Amino acid sequence: MSRALFLSSLSRVAMLAALATTVGACSTNPATGQSIFTGLMSPTQEQQVGDEQNSAIIAQYGGAIENARINQFVNDIGQKLVPYTERTDVARYSFTVLDTDDVNAFALPGGYVYITRGLLNLAQNEAQVAGVLAHELAHIQARHSAQQYSQGALANLGVGLLGAVIGGSGGQMASQAAGLGAQAGLMKYSRTHEFEADTLGIRYMQKAGYEPSAAAAFLEMLARNTQFESSIKGAGNSANAFSLMASHPQTTDRIQQAYQIAAQYPQAQYTLGRDRYLNAIDGMNYGGSAKSGFVRGNEFIHPDMGFRFSVPNGFEITNGAKNVIADNGKGALIVFDTGRGQNNNAAQYLTQTWLQGRQIGQVENITVNGLSGAAAQVPQVSINNTPKDAQFVALSDGNGVFYRLMYLTPTGQQANYAADYRRSTYSFAKMTQADKNQYKPHTIRVVSVQAGDTPQSLANRMSIKDHALDRFSLLNGITPQTKLNTGDKVKLILSQ
Ligand SMILES: [Zn+2]
Repeated sequence: MSRALFLSSLSRVAMLAALATTVGACSTNPATGQSIFTGLMSPTQEQQVGDEQNSAIIAQYGGAIENARINQFVNDIGQKLVPYTERTDVARYSFTVLDTDDVNAFALPGGYVYITRGLLNLAQNEAQVAGVLAHELAHIQARHSAQQYSQGALANLGVGLLGAVIGGSGGQMASQAAGLGAQAGLMKYSRTHEFEADTLGIRYMQKAGYEPSAAAAFLEMLARNTQFESSIKGAGNSANAFSLMASHPQTTDRIQQAYQIAAQYPQAQYTLGRDRYLNAIDGMNYGGSAKSGFVRGNEFIHPDMGFRFSVPNGFEITNGAKNVIADNGKGALIVFDTGRGQNNNAAQYLTQTWLQGRQIGQVENITVNGLSGAAAQVPQVSINNTPKDAQFVALSDGNGVFYRLMYLTPTGQQANYAADYRRSTYSFAKMTQADKNQYKPHTIRVVSVQAGDTPQSLANRMSIKDHALDRFSLLNGITPQTKLNTGDKVKLILSQ
């Protein structure tokens, strides 16, 4: 999660106001030639929405990456694709790299394209990155995001996980954030839109000289990544719900279609750009940064925000852009985020802001490693239509900010978790400078294969020890059995 949680610059009100003044209509799309319903949004309004939401999106996703080499690399690819797109009513395109481990890419109306650090780590070459950017440009050309926004506004989307739990003003802010994020994300487009964007995207990348089959190859990487993540998290983990491909059961179809489209283009000397890609991403963070926080075993550590806490054994931590979720795969969940109160009174914050308007049990005042806080039981909250028992804990940072921990259990099972959850609450602590210095982020390093190196021997060198061989294989798009050639370049995960 990012510091940006303290901000709440989403302005749906302004967006809805803009939408309310127009009449629905269909327009013909220059990219697809089809008539579409984008009714509620004109190109000017698309631009307004994009301009307005851009900084909020960046903030929600951990901020933009501050690495000139990577930004240049991504922007160069994007600008190379733009001349082959169709729309003439988009003033400019921007390509932003978001500093999050999430594997994602998405577009906002008005020419805003985003790609995450996690996605860049997973790619194998420049052409695969081009395939992703071209796909997002295609959504803008075909006005899918405008359609999405139009429909989204109509349906008044925006109920995310947190919103479903909390309600009240604190929760509303979070649910808006979650709603917009999801709306902007790849996962929310329809199957038809995805196929359309794949088709158009491959056209743009081929025209720009990139190997057209790289788009399909990256879809395969996405599928592998999803498989890897669910294998380490175990089946039934709710974190899977946040995965890019979770709502794309038709990935196999998309991969197949993308290869078929690519095969229709003439054979030529297309660019793959592996070396350029490797040069650009060498040194990039992997698996969290001081800015976004780290997961280390059953601990979550956020050096920049200066705190740490642990979760019970058997819980897998997912560090999302907006919150941190720990899940034991058996219906118990811990959700961490932050909120802002009127003052530093935790009990008041809990009852009047966070849980405003809800039936809650007795509020208990607590002190956790010097932080004053409050805790309350809330029976029968609903998460994705599943009832849970919940305990809410708010700890004051002393500057109006509250650290919030939600401990959820399947109904009637609270007693089984009470001791573990209590230990987790009391593990929450601010970090000293010496503490912070201990945590070095993992980074991607590009190395040359030496004689005798195997995937296993290279994986053994990595600073990340869990699932090292699988991780190494995935990161490099190979299998544990692949024979490496001396001089080949591979990505390793090392400490800085
Ligand atoms: Zn898409």
